[in-house]
Amino acid sequence: MLEQYDSEQGYCRKLGHHLNFQYCRTERNGKPCIKIFDCWFEKFDIKTFMRENFTSEEIEALNSATPPKTNTLLNLIQQAKNRQKRGN
Ligand code: SF4
Repeated sequence: MLEQYDSEQGYCRKLGHHLNFQYCRTERNGKPCIKIFDCWFEKFDIKTFMRENFTSEEIEALNSATPPKTNTLLNLIQQAKNRQKRGN
């Protein structure tokens, strides 16, 4: 079931805060974040989840996807803000 792990919580290294798995599986305009395997393998069987809910083409596309430059820039800004808050 696609929504079965939606309420699972994890820390996002890209955004610098905790979020729900639902965000991760829809992060790129409804498609999974390219880091979804790296971020969730310790919490549940992400490989099986992906295999059951996405096509092999969609999964393969994760390997070749690169983050949009606007996302990268926004992430860098967010990381700078987080560092500023922490006083680093
Ligand atoms: S999968 Fe992507 S959005 Fe989700 S926690 Fe990891 S880096 Fe953040």
